[in-house]
Amino acid sequence: MRKLRAMTLVAGAAVLVAMTGFATSPAAQAERSSGQDVVEYRVHDAVKSGDALEAAGLDVVSRRDGNDLFVLGDDATGGKLSALGFRAEVSQRTHQEGWAAPARPAGAGLQDETYDGGYHTVNAHYANMDAAASAHPDLASVVTYGQSWLKQQNKGGYALKAICIAKKAAGDCALNPNSTKPRFLLQAQVHAREIATGEMAYKYIDYLVGGYGTDPAVTNLLNTTEVWVVPIVNPDGVNLVQQGGNNPVLHRKNADFTAADLARCGDTAGSQPGVDINRNFSYHWQSNTSKCDQTTSTSNGAGDSEPETKALEALWANLFGDHRADGASDKPDVGARGTALMLHSYAGIIILPWEYTNTAHTPSDTPFRTMGKAMSQFSGYPYGQAGDLLYNAPGGSDDYAYGKLGIASFTIELGDQGGSCDGFTPSYSCVDGTFWPYMLKTFNYLAGKAASPYK
Ligand SMILES: [Zn+2]
Repeated sequence: MRKLRAMTLVAGAAVLVAMTGFATSPAAQAERSSGQDVVEYRVHDAVKSGDALEAAGLDVVSRRDGNDLFVLGDDATGGKLSALGFRAEVSQRTHQEGWAAPARPAGAGLQDETYDGGYHTVNAHYANMDAAASAHPDLASVVTYGQSWLKQQNKGGYALKAICIAKKAAGDCALNPNSTKPRFLLQAQVHAREIATGEMAYKYIDYLVGGYGTDPAVTNLLNTTEVWVVPIVNPDGVNLVQQGGNNPVLHRKNADFTAADLARCGDTAGSQPGVDINRNFSYHWQSNTSKCDQTTSTSNGAGDSEPETKALEALWANLFGDHRADGASDKPDVGARGTALMLHSYAGIIILPWEYTNTAHTPSDTPFRTMGKAMSQFSGYPYGQAGDLLYNAPGGSDDYAYGKLGIASFTIELGDQGGSCDGFTPSYSCVDGTFWPYMLKTFNYLAGKAASPYK
């Protein structure tokens, strides 16, 4: 039985910070204070029905136990599951209590601004990257690679930012694929509510810039490899999440509310507006125009409709080049270098392409499974194609990165295999205590494979 989270905020020296991005209406605060329950259901013998549950608009939460899947919703979701013929029971219930804004200790820098017990805000992530680059100009450069949907609309929003970390020589950290050093790209929080993933990116940046010259493994890595980190793929979405303060809003998608807005969908785990960036990539893309679904895949009837998606595709092409003929069954060419990892939560699994289907394997299946097995030894997470472990996920990042460009691209879902660090918003102590030791080894392993992932 899993422990429910304590939802109290430690006040102490915290001060509330008034700034752009935290504007939250009194009505929204009152609604959160009134106490909505987020209910997780165990759905029995549903392992073959993941796609059907998704198609019914239910929020399958990337976790399984034997033949059971888990669905997140509210008190009404149980009836919906019964009506669909599933046997389900409540496995976890989280009560949302009083709202508290993101905050930082008096005198602390913006990079220490946090919510929900320690999770960093978008502005804190960006300030941390800037601080790393200004303290270590020989090691780190911050690159703006696009604009979020809200930014493009002139409605606030954020620049899309990456940091390149390497012992820089002439020509390093440039946005073209002709780099001297091979590249590893780490990306987090494409799904905004998967808040522990961004912390892994934050910690890896600090680990690298702090370890050069003192930690031989870091020194060697940065002398030979460019490490790129995008800590927040979906900053507009994360801004919605962090506005929940100590009760993060379980928003998954971006903030492109063209098709439907908060008035129509609400903003709960099971119903929300926006587009799922990780169903929007245009390789084996599939249409889902249900506006309040978790996996709405487009705003205009086609893939690549979202600026966050297109900007990431352009970043990949700039960092890695094109090593594969589109849609063909050929392997990436012998010169293909580079590895990439997209972090999610909270199934506790390692996913390799293809993700749109599990009835076909990629031409690189053997090296992918070799790398999956190696990573599995760090975390104990099982590895395989998405449809074998959970459900098929068309329009995802890895299928595009590998299918169009030939990048050795993986997804890892953080997780605790049913333990107390499962959930989208685990206690902050899980970041250091559970996830970081696994992930540090995993990131360093994949960075080490950047020179020749297919050999
Ligand atoms: Zn996810």
